[in-house]
Amino acid sequence: MLKISIISIFPEYLKPLELSLLGKAQEKGLISIDIHDLRKHATDPHHSVDDTPYGGGAGMVMSAEPWGLAIDEVSNSEAEFDLIVLTPAGKKFDQQMAMSFSKKENLIFACGRYEGIDARVSKYYAEKRNFKVHEVSIGDYVLGGGEVATMVIVEATARLIPGVLGNPQSLKEESHTLTNKDGSLVEYPNYTKPANWRGLEVPEILLSGNHGEIEKWRIKEAERRTQALTKE
Ligand code: SAM
Repeated sequence: MLKISIISIFPEYLKPLELSLLGKAQEKGLISIDIHDLRKHATDPHHSVDDTPYGGGAGMVMSAEPWGLAIDEVSNSEAEFDLIVLTPAGKKFDQQMAMSFSKKENLIFACGRYEGIDARVSKYYAEKRNFKVHEVSIGDYVLGGGEVATMVIVEATARLIPGVLGNPQSLKEESHTLTNKDGSLVEYPNYTKPANWRGLEVPEILLSGNHGEIEKWRIKEAERRTQALTKE
């Protein structure tokens, strides 16, 4: 079972992880998701978790010690841990990364706020605790905090775990998993009933029942859509 621990100053932000596919995956015991409040580990009477940046500049930086205490608490065993630190300065998240996370045992997500987390936190867990530390971005833009990015990564990762999706076949034919000789493709367009909607017809081939020809059409369409994206 994949154990996911998420540390944030806004635990309520992560409530949607109880719903839908991820809620069911937890009920079935395929994953566990525990959400931890960073503020519980604040070391001063005001429960502050941030301070002014060394070297000056705008904004506040999240202090290392509350993070250290929170991560120590969720990793107090001999198991292997992967620490995912959300940051727009990290490696870009993609389907391959989701696949590799889905095979791990323990993922700890560190959701930053303000100007981010003191850089020594990543260094400490990589060097002193032998964690695999991944600094990960979900795209080239800046969010207010790491919670939404965590939800993106958790959802993309969890649905790749065997048993989480009702029909595992859906995983084989979807965007970024479909491939041809040149690499990965996005999915072909999908249609459902009725065959005519407001004067727009479903492509005839899909009504033919000829599975070989449908397969060829789908691959062509996937290639066309992928090429169109790379031209943009
Ligand atoms: N000062 C940081 C910088 O310029 O790289 C941005 C900090 S951002 C306002 C606050 C937090 O939001 C970050 O510490 C991170 O946890 C999260 N965050 C923002 N954008 C993100 C992105 N694209 N991917 C992942 N996390 C992001």
